[in-house]
Amino acid sequence: MNSRFHYIGGVMMRCYVTQDNQEHIDLFELNGKDRLPYFRITQDLGQTLIDLYYGNFEAAYSIIAEIGKELGSLTGQDTDEAIWKEIYTQVEELINTHFLFGALLPIAFSLYRAHIHNWDENVDKDDIRKFGNTFYDIVRDAKSLVESCFNEEEDDSGYTLAERYRSASDSGSLKFDTMQYSHVSTEELLVGNGHMDNPVNWDVDTMRRQGITTVFQEVLYPDTLMDLYNYVKAQCLRAEIRIRPCKHCGRYFLVIGNSKLEYCDRLIEGSTKTCRQMGSVRNYTNRQMENPVIRAYTKAYKTHNARVRYGMMTKDEFQSWSRAARWRRDECVAGKLSLEDFQAWLDRDKT
Ligand SMILES: [Zn+2]
Repeated sequence: MNSRFHYIGGVMMRCYVTQDNQEHIDLFELNGKDRLPYFRITQDLGQTLIDLYYGNFEAAYSIIAEIGKELGSLTGQDTDEAIWKEIYTQVEELINTHFLFGALLPIAFSLYRAHIHNWDENVDKDDIRKFGNTFYDIVRDAKSLVESCFNEEEDDSGYTLAERYRSASDSGSLKFDTMQYSHVSTEELLVGNGHMDNPVNWDVDTMRRQGITTVFQEVLYPDTLMDLYNYVKAQCLRAEIRIRPCKHCGRYFLVIGNSKLEYCDRLIEGSTKTCRQMGSVRNYTNRQMENPVIRAYTKAYKTHNARVRYGMMTKDEFQSWSRAARWRRDECVAGKLSLEDFQAWLDRDKT
């Protein structure tokens, strides 16, 4: 029995950001000239970073290590197909964890191709393990971007996004210092929810009759995971996206346009309502809904950030303080630390 890999002609990813600040990521399986959509994601620009920030990838890293072992156990016998079948299932599972794992499919596929052609020299069996390491670094980089660059609380520091990026880069909290990517091309895409995946051989008048218009759009066909990440990161920096901590649960969410929303749309634990829905219920005043833990944290954050501005604290000192404060804030929200103890910790360097 052949594994799924056997039936794939090739794999291709595509990423682009439209003018309405939506990030689109597509993964196709190729079948001759046809692109068969494997998955398609459209979401607000920056959501990728937030998902990386809150993702728990421990299980994913174990699966990647597992795949590495399986590749090592290939023998060149018929039993190999069962191993490849297992690898395909595991890659699928990873893609369900986070779409960036989609970049693993072309690697696994090219390993499969190389294997059935008796391993040529263009592939490295270690590519899967290296992918895991790169992913780990990407998560670190994304966390720093969210906390130190796009975090709206940082606006109070008086530094621009570019300046905040530079200082995050100088302090070494960003893992990567270039944003290179290839390959970029300009394509004609259908306006609306469609895409020109398969060449539509309609003439202009037929398209008009169907009410179809097209637009020129820059698209990325990433060669590697880094290409894809760098592209998304660069687009976020260029669009100057903003991220804000929710006043109830403290977790970051994307600010869309000039939105004044204070609460995120995540479900409150043990409730069927989101922070935002609870925040807009009439019998809750805004004050009641606000989590005192978050309020204490935000207040202290602002005071400490101001110290940087007045030269009473270095940016590095502030960053390590805010990391420690965030950790305690989350412990406190989770009920593992009392508000009194948290407040005492925040106050300990009060002047
Ligand atoms: Zn929330």
